[in-house]
Amino acid sequence: MASKLMEQREDKFFADVLNYFEKAAKFVDMPEGILDQIKFCNSVYRIKYPIKTKDGFKVIEAYRVEHSHHKLPTKGGIRYSEHVNQDEVMALAALMTYKCAIVDVPFGGAKGGIKINPKDFSEDEMERITRRYTSELIKKNFIGPAIDVPAPDYGSGEREMAWIVDTYTTFNPTELNAAGCVTGKPISQGGISGRREATGLGVFYGVREALNHAEDAKKWGLKPGIKDKTVVVQGMGNVGYHTAKFFYEGGAKIIALAEYEGAIYNPKGLDPDAVLAYRQKNKTLLGFPGATDLKSTGEALELECDILIPAALENQIHSQNAKNIKAKIIGEAANGPVTPEAEVVLLKKGIYIIPDIYLNAGGVTVSYFEWLKNMSHVRFGRMTKRFDENMNHSLMESIESLTGKKFTKQQHTDLERGAEERDLVYSGLEETMINAYHQIREILHNTEGVNDLRTAAFVCAIRKVAVSYENLGIFP
Ligand code: GLU
Repeated sequence: MASKLMEQREDKFFADVLNYFEKAAKFVDMPEGILDQIKFCNSVYRIKYPIKTKDGFKVIEAYRVEHSHHKLPTKGGIRYSEHVNQDEVMALAALMTYKCAIVDVPFGGAKGGIKINPKDFSEDEMERITRRYTSELIKKNFIGPAIDVPAPDYGSGEREMAWIVDTYTTFNPTELNAAGCVTGKPISQGGISGRREATGLGVFYGVREALNHAEDAKKWGLKPGIKDKTVVVQGMGNVGYHTAKFFYEGGAKIIALAEYEGAIYNPKGLDPDAVLAYRQKNKTLLGFPGATDLKSTGEALELECDILIPAALENQIHSQNAKNIKAKIIGEAANGPVTPEAEVVLLKKGIYIIPDIYLNAGGVTVSYFEWLKNMSHVRFGRMTKRFDENMNHSLMESIESLTGKKFTKQQHTDLERGAEERDLVYSGLEETMINAYHQIREILHNTEGVNDLRTAAFVCAIRKVAVSYENLGIFP
């Protein structure tokens, strides 16, 4: 049913984003010309190219859309999915602009899409598809560390990013900053520690921050904090798995996990690592020991729970199932998982929706850190770690000699430790997610007429993008 629904909604996703924009733009005091400039996609590139497969030549359809050039480079992932179409890529590119603005990542928004099911192709064929796609982007100046910087998205990961950076570097041998042409790379190719789990960790930080406001939690009928909250996660890909893992480690109870083959439910809680290992071995979640099989993903979405995290694709909560959703909070880890029609129903029911353009911005935030690392050609922490450790050691020794008391060996180890790259990435991400949440919550609570967090997030984003256009002097 979900895929039939997706077909019906094709060509509507960008219109949905425009509607969100219009709804929020009313609260942004800026000239109409600037607002018009923001909402449309600046450049849309559609490519068809052939690749040789074991069954002969196949024509591949692909896209790259740059939504806004108010800041450069533009930024956004490349989706590998048979559902890719121009409207979807445009919508996702626009969401990237707003996402970057909300978390103060100084990039415009972009998105790519390759219309294939990666499962239909061998590794060699995938490499050919990705490298040829990259050369097509190079031909038209749609990629480069100062131009447009892709990243992973649904259906792509570190492997594809490694092929992209290699192809780009081959064509641009004198580009000193070539590693910054794409993010989400393996560490050995210029990637950064913490990028893989960044989106999931950002989702966790965002929901945790929402729940840290005791007065808000009370309104949703919840106690503050993550501990003991019941959570349902749809999607066990990179985003879903890491989200589930961070909630589990934070003391929440993951009562259901869903994938396209079905879902599993255990009111006592599921360990995401054990489920992932089981799924890798058995090629399905179903039959996981101790859990009950649910017939479909849809059934998992409708379970009674505190927090529902759709972490797969768009349009998962729609006009037909919205009335059955029983969660108190929906955390949009995917892009566009709730349709506008469903949102009306959910808001009426008092469900708090933490929107994608804020909540899943952890990925692009750490992509920004990776790009900064590539521009500076040095690993974060390399210049400071040892220095901090030595300073901490001297400080502890001074305290010991002044007080005549000794710290334990464990205290020395814990308190002297200098920050690794991953520590800095986590702390930068935590700061970003908390700070951005406060900004959008403040708009929600203090702007008359703004009644939901998505509109507040759009207001926040549009204001920031508009100001940068204004400052560029494009509209004197
Ligand atoms: N594809 C991810 C997103 O939708 C990450 C984008 C990036 O890191 O540039 O936010």
